[in-house]
Amino acid sequence: MNETELSTRYDPAEVGKRWYDYWLEKGYFKANDTDTRPPFCIVIPPPNVTGSLHVGHALDNTLQDILIRHKRMSGYNTLWMPGTDHAGIATQNVVERELKKEGLDRHELGREKFLERSWKWKEEYGGKIIGQLKELGASCDWDRERFTMDEGLSRAVREVFVRLYEEGLVYRANYITNWCPRCHTALSDIEVEYAERNSHLYDIAYPLKDGGRLVVATTRPETLLGDTAIAVNPEDDRYRKFVGKMVLLPISGREIPVIADSYVAMDFGTGALKITPAHDPNDYEVGKRHNLPAITVIDKNGRMENVPEKYVGKSREECRKMIVEDLKEQGLLLETHPHKNAVGECYRCKTTVEPSLSMQWFVKTAPLAAEAIKAVETGAVEFIPKSWENTYFEWMKNIRDWCISRQLWWGHRIPAWHCADCAHITVSRTDATECAKCKSKNIAQENDVLDTWFSSALWPFSTLGWPDKTEALKTFYPTSVLVTGLDIIFFWVARMIMMGIKFTGEPPFKKVYIHALVRDAEGKKMSKSKGNVVDPLTLMMQFGTDSLRFAVCAMESQGRDARLSEKRIEGYRNFVNKLWNASRFVLMNIGDYKGGADLNKLNLTVADRWILSRLQKTTAQAQEALDNFRFNDLANALYSFTWGELCDWYIELAKPRFTGGDAETVRAVLVHLLDNVLRLLHPVMPFVTEEIYHKLPGHGESLMIASYPKPESRLLDEEAEKEMETVMEIISSIRSIRQELNIPYSVPLTAIVKCGSEDGSAKIKTHEKSILAITRAVSIEVSTNAQRPPQSATAVHAHSEVYVPLAGLIDISKEKDRLEKDLAKIKKELAMLDKKFEDDNFVKNAPPEVLEKDRGNHSELTRRVAGMEDSIKWLGQ
Ligand SMILES: [Zn+2]
Ligand SMILES: [Zn+2]
Repeated sequence: MNETELSTRYDPAEVGKRWYDYWLEKGYFKANDTDTRPPFCIVIPPPNVTGSLHVGHALDNTLQDILIRHKRMSGYNTLWMPGTDHAGIATQNVVERELKKEGLDRHELGREKFLERSWKWKEEYGGKIIGQLKELGASCDWDRERFTMDEGLSRAVREVFVRLYEEGLVYRANYITNWCPRCHTALSDIEVEYAERNSHLYDIAYPLKDGGRLVVATTRPETLLGDTAIAVNPEDDRYRKFVGKMVLLPISGREIPVIADSYVAMDFGTGALKITPAHDPNDYEVGKRHNLPAITVIDKNGRMENVPEKYVGKSREECRKMIVEDLKEQGLLLETHPHKNAVGECYRCKTTVEPSLSMQWFVKTAPLAAEAIKAVETGAVEFIPKSWENTYFEWMKNIRDWCISRQLWWGHRIPAWHCADCAHITVSRTDATECAKCKSKNIAQENDVLDTWFSSALWPFSTLGWPDKTEALKTFYPTSVLVTGLDIIFFWVARMIMMGIKFTGEPPFKKVYIHALVRDAEGKKMSKSKGNVVDPLTLMMQFGTDSLRFAVCAMESQGRDARLSEKRIEGYRNFVNKLWNASRFVLMNIGDYKGGADLNKLNLTVADRWILSRLQKTTAQAQEALDNFRFNDLANALYSFTWGELCDWYIELAKPRFTGGDAETVRAVLVHLLDNVLRLLHPVMPFVTEEIYHKLPGHGESLMIASYPKPESRLLDEEAEKEMETVMEIISSIRSIRQELNIPYSVPLTAIVKCGSEDGSAKIKTHEKSILAITRAVSIEVSTNAQRPPQSATAVHAHSEVYVPLAGLIDISKEKDRLEKDLAKIKKELAMLDKKFEDDNFVKNAPPEVLEKDRGNHSELTRRVAGMEDSIKWLGQ
């Protein structure tokens, strides 16, 4: 194959691997810590080390790669910082499952051995996703890849923890937290998902010590043995007289007081509530206000404890049944009502969480949140789309202290040592060997590890070398933009802003782009249970990586739900092929053109001036879209220029010129156009563009490091655009007359064009050759006073009318019959659509894509009806 020739078919897999290896080998992904070019930095949202690429990653990382590649081509010193997250619970679960297969559990193995196993797992299987990101084309600086538990990042974690502790912003407290009895760890509020469940509301009678009874409504009878009060609303007249009296707890007979607290809703159940401070967060607050004891009756495995012997060790569900039976027997269960309530579940394993008391570590968030709110208010950090700022403010203004301890082994073990002799806690940057207070050597490190989000909150600066004052930190921090999903605004984005400001004095990024959630073609959330999850790796194999990348770019419209369908990706594969074939055609027709011609010195035709002007506008649109994170606008502008103008029109217009006198000009223009289109498309479709680029005469070392086009205003040419619009109108109408009336291209026809002005007429005449070539007309007459011959097809435009005499071209009566039959059919379809639209229910309830499709159909059918009616008319006249 010769140097400028492309193979007949594009093979995405082969091409992708070849160029990715080339880019790596050339070191193009590498950033420079001491460079004078302006910096542009993105830190990757670190995927879980257990993860593998899903569509959300494909979207998230394609968008980041587009931004990075664009800036790299625009002369920035770009750093896309990669790495993975140790993913506490997820990784521990994976390793525990492995152990289980061997008949082991982590307690038998012991902490040290378990961690060895976990590291071994991480080295062998972890980070599979990194390889998949490379397949996607991600141009991260892989030499800098970090892991949240590597040495440097662990040092940053310790530094932050110790400083917060020293400032009194980390504290320990007995607290009620959401406990997962399966994962054996406390969960933060946002790690709990609520699911609506059908359950029951039980009315239980609590006998008063002095006679009589109080009826309490509860959804959780199994916690009854942990009750330490009955609460009523102080305004509730029904109960005022009982406040201060004692009741006898059913089953156990323990005495508990009746208290008044405005937390109790008078209209819920009976208006009297049992208070179980150890197993309900609200009850816990009530208990604190009234100095009630908290009695734990459910242990860390979700089994009953501190209860009468018969219930000990039973699960929560079993115990509920037993207690209900026992109450019934004693005549204390008065009624059972069906009741729907929201039950908290562990976001990892879906086990019902148990609010539970334990000693936990917390970060006092209010002072950190105040600064983080300010940063967004002042615009130091900007959310795109802006509407997310309200969500952020609302959450930050009501922020609760952050429970950072997790009862896991895999993670950053809290750097605190408990003294067995004096109970002092020594918190230290280095491993402590003695108690800081009494110097006893009898100390033991805290068993808990930190919440995984603690280390990821430091990600933007820990990855750049903090706490050291590195060149990387100086050059790339604050980073330029963060690209992430809406589901982790609180888990991650807000916490990074808080920690970034606290420890570096500056917010970690200037902009946060919140992208869409990827849904299926019908707009449904993808989920394993629905079976509608698509695998990006399969799609890449099936349609090519560039097609998938273009599809996600095209569907990303400022965070509005993105719908991904195979059909759409297939459509963009056709686009990739179109680009390939057009490039192939151009390259086969440029002869020995060596590239580099100065467009100013060429004798440009109107068509050349038109397409060059359109190129400038498209370039400006692309730049603007990229600067404003309008990914779908970027995709649309490039798609419609490349396919709709360059391939469909300019290349067609250029064909007759290859053999003419201005072949050199058209070759130079085509190569210029192709070169620019490849540059414009490269950030979105890096592989196919690089492959084609290397066949262009005068190409550089790599498209990746070629400059991104800038619009050149001197090439804007409104006059040429207007003139070409008229020419294209004329050509289109002759083409559609051929189509509508079944006149094959092999049948020569004559066209008559009537122009509104002498000037217009003269201009059209200069395009005669092109018009004839594209429409395969044998002749065209252009004048201001042309007459419509009888039995002519007609098209009317703003500045021209086109007539095509039909006599002798087709069997007029046969054609008329066919048209009338077709017309009737189409009108029927149209009437059906009309009926659909008249139905308010349909319009209101139909999914938007169905409506859009029907509307598109409707206008297409309407257009065809008009065209056919015209044709029938012409045949008769
Ligand atoms: Zn769990
Ligand atoms: Zn001590």
